[in-house]
Amino acid sequence: DVLPIVAPERTRAILKAHGFRLKKRLGQNFLTVPKVLARIVTAAQLTEADDVIEIGPGIGALTEFLAGSAGRVLAIEIDPQLLPVLADTMAPYDNVQVVEGDVLKLDLPALVEEKLPGSTRLKVVANLPYYITTPILMHLLQSDLPLAGLTVMMQKEVADRLTARPSTKDYGSLSIAVQQNMHVAVAFDVSRKSFVPAPNVDSAIVTLTRRAQPLAEVTDQESFDKLVRGGFAARRKTLWNNLINLYGKTDAVKEKISLALQDCNIEASTRAETLDIPAFAALSNALFARDV
Ligand code: SAM
Repeated sequence: DVLPIVAPERTRAILKAHGFRLKKRLGQNFLTVPKVLARIVTAAQLTEADDVIEIGPGIGALTEFLAGSAGRVLAIEIDPQLLPVLADTMAPYDNVQVVEGDVLKLDLPALVEEKLPGSTRLKVVANLPYYITTPILMHLLQSDLPLAGLTVMMQKEVADRLTARPSTKDYGSLSIAVQQNMHVAVAFDVSRKSFVPAPNVDSAIVTLTRRAQPLAEVTDQESFDKLVRGGFAARRKTLWNNLINLYGKTDAVKEKISLALQDCNIEASTRAETLDIPAFAALSNALFARDV
């Protein structure tokens, strides 16, 4: 029998047979520990009713596990040199499709309609390329894809920001943008030694599942996003300073900001990091109502 792709001997043999050299600039750190893949698949709670999008299949180590547990797998890989490798390693799996492309530039809903027609439940499972973890997460969450959940490997530092609570150093616009719509939890940590080559940071598997409703009611999404980003623009400054930098320093604007803060019982001298998501939503709604 053949060893799984993730087995170090098999990975080495595949790389050698194809003369493939790993590219650091594309975040190519490949997993070589079978147990980690088994735990990722368990964390994703896959059944045959799930279709999975995988970002960055590499040589197919995780893809192979997904093929065995999900309905269909759509794997998106940016590196054209990996396509012939995947054609080879994925040949035994007729429920896997590989698409060459940059996930950040693809129209994902259109791609899903074309490649996974009739899909009823869609999940993302991936060992993300670390140089673009945050852009990929934001792209996925803003893509209008009806994602039931994501199970993604990322550097621990980003996992800490995703799960951060108010008044902690990791809490910021990313924590809010994600937690507003998703339940976020760290499933388990993964040592840097589980990869070839070993990256400079440790990793974590994070699960994100869609909330039935957003955590807080927001009147205008664009205003909310603007406030959340702008509120943290200068972390060491007060909320007031960040707000006037964001909306303008004329007396008329300052007056409206003051009144909106009063509407919500928020002190101008506070810092954005102390505000929870409902407080951000209330402030955003008050500012929007006052035409700020
Ligand atoms: N899934 C494999 C594993 O677990 O061993 C490889 C994961 S490796 C951390 C990240 C993969 O993402 C690489 O194969 C890399 O070529 C690919 N990648 C990097 N940037 C990408 C992008 N913008 N779109 C799609 N794939 C990308």
